[in-house]
Amino acid sequence: MTAVSSLNIIESTCYEPWEVQIEPFAVTDQIFYVGNKWVGAYLIDTGDGLILLDTTTAETAYLLLNSIYKLGYRPEEIKMILLSHAHVDHYGAARFLKELSGAEIWLSREDEEFRKTDGAAESGGLFVPFREYSFETDRYYDDSTPILLGNVEIRTRLTPGHTPGVTSFFIYTDDKKCGRIVSAIHGGVGVLTMSDESLDRAGLSRELRKRFIKDCHDLKDISVDICLPSHPAHAPLFEKREQAADGDKNPFIDRDGWARFLDDRVQYAIKLEEEADSHFEAK
Ligand SMILES: [Zn+2]
Repeated sequence: MTAVSSLNIIESTCYEPWEVQIEPFAVTDQIFYVGNKWVGAYLIDTGDGLILLDTTTAETAYLLLNSIYKLGYRPEEIKMILLSHAHVDHYGAARFLKELSGAEIWLSREDEEFRKTDGAAESGGLFVPFREYSFETDRYYDDSTPILLGNVEIRTRLTPGHTPGVTSFFIYTDDKKCGRIVSAIHGGVGVLTMSDESLDRAGLSRELRKRFIKDCHDLKDISVDICLPSHPAHAPLFEKREQAADGDKNPFIDRDGWARFLDDRVQYAIKLEEEADSHFEAK
């Protein structure tokens, strides 16, 4: 019998990872959710091998692997591991997956530098001792050159704020019902790391928060069919999954969802910015 846990979802992920297990599911014909209840990970079937976007933590690696198998794939088929940013909840299982698959690990140059600094651990701010395994980054994103594999194209965009090297992804895939569609992932919208205190502690510039706010406004101009959250709590992904069973429309397609998501996330950063301004004025 499973006792009701008194841990929060981050603690559960670390100490009792089975509690955050969730069945994998298809978002489009080519994109699958393989993350857990707390942190997202997406498997992309390119027709010429798999791309894994984020890896979750080392503690939950076995859940991720099981999800890949349940979908009928094998980890050996992964050719690229794309990391959204250098926090352990996203790269924690990268080493395991690379050892299994030989896949290339991609990260931004900015976060490759950042993760070598003392500030990186501070910036995570998770207050839970997730296991860390070293890994080497094989490739850096070049936002002017799309990542191509099979029939999938992924355009990247540096969107700093949450860390200096957060990368966002625009994934072009084919869908039987809808044709060519664009799914987008903002790589890091958590504002806890964007307070003056957190930025100072991590040795980062307060300008990062301003940049995040500006980018959120600019990104709204990009037309997106499906908004995929890097943490499922940030957008209604699981709720839409419930609707997937009935009807022949893809419930994840929501052409206003991306702008709504960015508007929603940016307001927390704007609030921090206003607070910082008022402190400044009070001095
Ligand atoms: Zn993070």
